[in-house]
Amino acid sequence: MYVQDTIVAQATAPGQAAVAIVRLSGPDAIRILRAIWHPIRARTELLPRRLCLGEIRDPASGAALDRAMAVAMHAPHSLTGEDVAEIQCHGGAYLVRRIVGAAMTLGARLAEPGEFSRRAFLNGRMDLTAAEAVADLVEARGDGALRQALEQMVGALADRVARMRHQLIGVRAHLEAEIDFGDEGIKLPSRDEIAASIAHLIDEMRPLHDSFARGRLMRSGARAAIVGKPNVGKSSIMNLLLGVDRAIVTAIPGTTRDVIEDSVALGPYHLVIQDTAGLRDGGDEVERIGIERALSHAAGADLLIAVFDGASALEADDSRVIEIARGCPGVAILNKRDLAPRLTPAMLRERGVAMPIVPLCALNADGLGALRDELIHALDALVGSNHGETVAVSRERHRAALARALGALEAARGSALGGMPPEIVAVDVAIASDALGSITGEVTSEDVLDSIFREFCIGK
Ligand code: GDP
Repeated sequence: MYVQDTIVAQATAPGQAAVAIVRLSGPDAIRILRAIWHPIRARTELLPRRLCLGEIRDPASGAALDRAMAVAMHAPHSLTGEDVAEIQCHGGAYLVRRIVGAAMTLGARLAEPGEFSRRAFLNGRMDLTAAEAVADLVEARGDGALRQALEQMVGALADRVARMRHQLIGVRAHLEAEIDFGDEGIKLPSRDEIAASIAHLIDEMRPLHDSFARGRLMRSGARAAIVGKPNVGKSSIMNLLLGVDRAIVTAIPGTTRDVIEDSVALGPYHLVIQDTAGLRDGGDEVERIGIERALSHAAGADLLIAVFDGASALEADDSRVIEIARGCPGVAILNKRDLAPRLTPAMLRERGVAMPIVPLCALNADGLGALRDELIHALDALVGSNHGETVAVSRERHRAALARALGALEAARGSALGGMPPEIVAVDVAIASDALGSITGEVTSEDVLDSIFREFCIGK
């Protein structure tokens, strides 16, 4: 439920920084600001939407706490659509606590996670896809994710959904005309025409639904599991790709026992790299559990990086790696190219390795450029062509709603072609329309809003 009280929170990350922003929203926001923040010169007025320099004072004792900028934005021209005040103080954790505490003694309540965005949504300042895009923008870890979040934030997805919903309303209007005036001899679209309009909408909606593979990969990053027998250089390659010493490198086989994970930006992509335990038979119980985990991560990964030691002949454990990699997208690495070669790309091809093969020396980074290029190619292929679809859905919530809408439209088309009464066709068209409306939030429930905004941090 939306209670119109005044909320306060730190909008910037907790901890020490040059500047911190304390944000207030609600009917008392500007009154509270005026009780905490005072212009330095008496004639300095707090003009709406203008940053002004002033002094922060403890409202109880009048003691000065900081010199800070403040801005007031009056409803409805603000982030939340309510009166909003922001204080840009110095970024000390104690200072921020004092300011937030002062606001609370003056009647504000500490905001819940995502409460500012939720109010913005409830006051019609942004639709749900835009609110979600703000969260995605903040979490973006690559240019592709940034671009996608920004497009969604400025309404690319909401516009597409609105257009499809508008077309559905047209179909509904025809069906309702048939329900109301069907026997009065008025010229109405035939069932075939209605089925054709629905089929047209299905054709438009399906690529958007299928764009989830691309959208998810851009938003959350692709997972690449490094697999290989012990000592081929998996941990060295992980560290090389990350540019930091993240995984332990030793000449002792079986050192990496659990899955180590970290992420790196690669071209427009964001890749989550997982270093896994070396695959071999035997070893102790801990190592065997590590190997099981390695296999399950390899099975769940978007890409495989299969590593072979170029300075030693193929062994049974390598054959297992070749088996796992069969048919998987990814890159094979022939490591230790600085040593005398005993394994060549041709030999790997002969054994059925179909992935691109990159010779590498993980110790001196010789071949790193080619490895990065091949990984980017593999990601390009994974993301695939957009088939002319410029917008991508990036959340399971959007994909599931589109799947619901598509299912209902298929049913509506079948009923229209099967000569079912218009009421039956109209029910499925209404389900499809509501499913689309749930993406932007035109049709929604408290539970859905709770689950969306709970993911946000406090102050957002
Ligand atoms: P992992 O067990 O597959 O993770 O392999 P590590 O990364 O721990 O490396 C095993 C051993 O091989 C270490 O002694 C590394 O220094 C060495 N090593 C890794 N890459 C290369 C390489 O390209 N050339 C040479 N000569 N040694 C390497």
